[in-house]
Amino acid sequence: MDEGYRDLLARQQYRLCGDHAAVKLCHWLKESLVRGRHCYKQDFYGIESHRCLQITPAINECSHRCSFCWRVQDSDFEVTDWMEPREMLDSLIAHQRLLISGFKGDPRCSGEMFEEACDPNQVAISLAGEPITYPHLSELLRECRRRGMTTFLVTNGTYPERLEALDVLPTQTYVTVAAPDEETYRAVCRPKIPDGWERLMRTLEILPSLGTRTVIRHTLVKGLNMGREEGYAKLDRIADPYLIEPKGYVFVGASRQRLSLASMPSFGEIRSFSERLGEMVGMEVLKEREDSRVLLLGRRGAETDVRRLAGTPSESERKNAKTVP
Ligand code: SF4
Repeated sequence: MDEGYRDLLARQQYRLCGDHAAVKLCHWLKESLVRGRHCYKQDFYGIESHRCLQITPAINECSHRCSFCWRVQDSDFEVTDWMEPREMLDSLIAHQRLLISGFKGDPRCSGEMFEEACDPNQVAISLAGEPITYPHLSELLRECRRRGMTTFLVTNGTYPERLEALDVLPTQTYVTVAAPDEETYRAVCRPKIPDGWERLMRTLEILPSLGTRTVIRHTLVKGLNMGREEGYAKLDRIADPYLIEPKGYVFVGASRQRLSLASMPSFGEIRSFSERLGEMVGMEVLKEREDSRVLLLGRRGAETDVRRLAGTPSESERKNAKTVP
């Protein structure tokens, strides 16, 4: 990793482990600690924002340069020395504890919330890069599960062979589908690889047999990839996901160099898209968060709370099983 990029990440409050893994405090973790406001995933899936570890094990590589991406998109680089998952997870948690240490004395943050935040029980494997390229991902997922942590993995879908090769699966797997057809995909996701669309299609085909909870995320950019719900419906029928998240683009971070405020669809436009898409795939709006510009589509009666999933340990089971130092 070149020093310029390392310094840039440090200035943006990333904390690195080796030259491939990183943790960064999520805006919503901080909001949850001091203002009692939490992320939409706490409403939708029951995770706890103040106990969420937002990480990436592979900041060094991504096959896309999505126009809507808020992250710094630096050049890919080769990693020769990958950290072992247990050591890496310990190091990421240690960084997170340092990053939140300032909240200990904050009168707005209760002691109980602070203690809980020091003991993360949810891992959002989505911070940057393509996490699925981390060669020890199965072991990392196994280690998280051993510690009683739920895991949300986000992938852009262009590594089907890696997804298929996982022998331990996340609690929830997100695949971002930000285009209804190949032409739009090339314009929006700006793939670095020639066969990105074919690879994404392959991923959608294997999702139904993956044996984990799958969520398709449609990131909606006004004037770029909206409308054409039938195209999205055709892809969603192939993927047959458990849930679908139509989510409006937000004008933040590095994406401001490529898009404009006008690229943000209104919540009304996101809802209309969601309702039309829902009709086409036999789903309905189960939940919504206007401030996060997102709705949740699912079949009526679908269980959305990950804590109720088989295999997700209760807090007491966690405490008993946990051997985290
Ligand atoms: S799930 Fe995502 S949005 Fe919610 S606290 Fe974790 S990183 Fe933030």
